Amino acid sequence: MAREAHVIGASTAGLYAAYRLARKGFEVHLYDAESNLNPAPRTLILTPYFQRLLDFPSDEVIINRVWRFELISASASATVTLKEPDLVVERRKLFELLLRQASEAGVDIHWGHRLEGLEEEGGSLLLRFRTDQGYKVVLSSSVIGADGAKSTVGRLLGRRALPLVAVVQAKVNFPKPIPADKVQVWFDRNRTRFFVWLIPESPTTGVVGLVADGMEEACRSLEDFLSSHSWEPSSFQSAIVPLYLPGTGMVAGKGLRSAILVGDAAGHMKNTTVGGVVSGLRGASALTISSGGVKVGSAWQALKRELWLHAWLRRLLDTFSDEDYNLLLKLLNARSLRILAAYPRDDFAKAVMPLLLSQPRWFLLGARSFLKAMASQL
Ligand SMILES: Cc1cc2nc3c(=O)[nH]c(=O)nc-3n(C[C@H](O)[C@H](O)[C@H](O)COP(=O)(O)OP(=O)(O)OC[C@H]3O[C@@H](n4cnc5c(N)ncnc54)[C@H](O)[C@@H]3O)c2cc1C
Repeated sequence: MAREAHVIGASTAGLYAAYRLARKGFEVHLYDAESNLNPAPRTLILTPYFQRLLDFPSDEVIINRVWRFELISASASATVTLKEPDLVVERRKLFELLLRQASEAGVDIHWGHRLEGLEEEGGSLLLRFRTDQGYKVVLSSSVIGADGAKSTVGRLLGRRALPLVAVVQAKVNFPKPIPADKVQVWFDRNRTRFFVWLIPESPTTGVVGLVADGMEEACRSLEDFLSSHSWEPSSFQSAIVPLYLPGTGMVAGKGLRSAILVGDAAGHMKNTTVGGVVSGLRGASALTISSGGVKVGSAWQALKRELWLHAWLRRLLDTFSDEDYNLLLKLLNARSLRILAAYPRDDFAKAVMPLLLSQPRWFLLGARSFLKAMASQL
């Protein structure tokens, strides 16, 4: 039985995949192109699913807890008061925790190893890394690609390119105190087809951000939004992330010339909110072991269902005008708000039927958007 696994990409998905495989008794080698752990600062908001997923304590990464989401459109607003708070997390702290857990589990981490080649050789995959000391080759029968949105593993194995979007957020020191327990979300089609958010870190600091189809558009739109509120950015955080592409599984390539992808590399992204951390950790948790090495286990089915649902909701939301968002928020009755409060975004499939039953007019709005989405494909 093959007891060795080689994970490419030492970010959240890769570190957690490596940790889990090492805990299952594998000899795990984890490679990253960076020369050491040096993640760019990033304020993340995660659902409580995050802490349920990890099998070790993670309070140390939490910088704030939020209980309320205020949804704002041009002429309506609604507030969801959560049953369990969402967690505001600093990515560096999360990296440090995952790195410590992976190291303690025995993962061998190789910094400064950029994967550049991947070929089949004698029943295994030959990985070619560029390092400061020159090229290094490694043979492996279990390769896991956790190398982000523009995954080299996926590209070298001919996996279909994923749709990419730009996320940018500005760190702001607010001139007047803000409610530290409330996220604000603005729907404004002139700025973005997604939404604008304010995630508080404290009563005086937080991040304001948005997603757009390109980086230039995202930066322009965010700067305009900030100046409309007279908010001065102190720094920016940004990157390209993928959207989930329904129909893409976790395996890239075929037969012996294949690898498993997790995290952004696999498009493990909730397309509604463009949240990828918990989905990536779930992807890593879906890895299991068989006599042939690492395999994708049945947990992938539940994640796939969830990602598929978010991809469809995104397609419907993309057809929305500002008036549709006004209507959507006005239709949120007390029962709908209670349902939204009870089900985290990472467990949204369970909320769909109760939500539809809570407001019969959702069907009409949904059906209209579905027809518009279909028509836009013709
Ligand atoms: C500004 C911003 C805010 C965000 N906010 C949230 C949020 O609030 N909630 C949320 O859930 N998600 C959020 N996201 C998305 C989330 O950050 C990503 O989905 C997540 O970080 C993806 O993690 P990953 O481990 O899959 O990939 P990545 O973090 O992209 O890591 C990939 C790793 O692979 C390495 N690598 C790449 N190529 C190679 C190679 N050829 N060889 C070796 N190593 C390689 C890289 O160095 C890197 O370490 C946000 C994204 C941005 C940009």
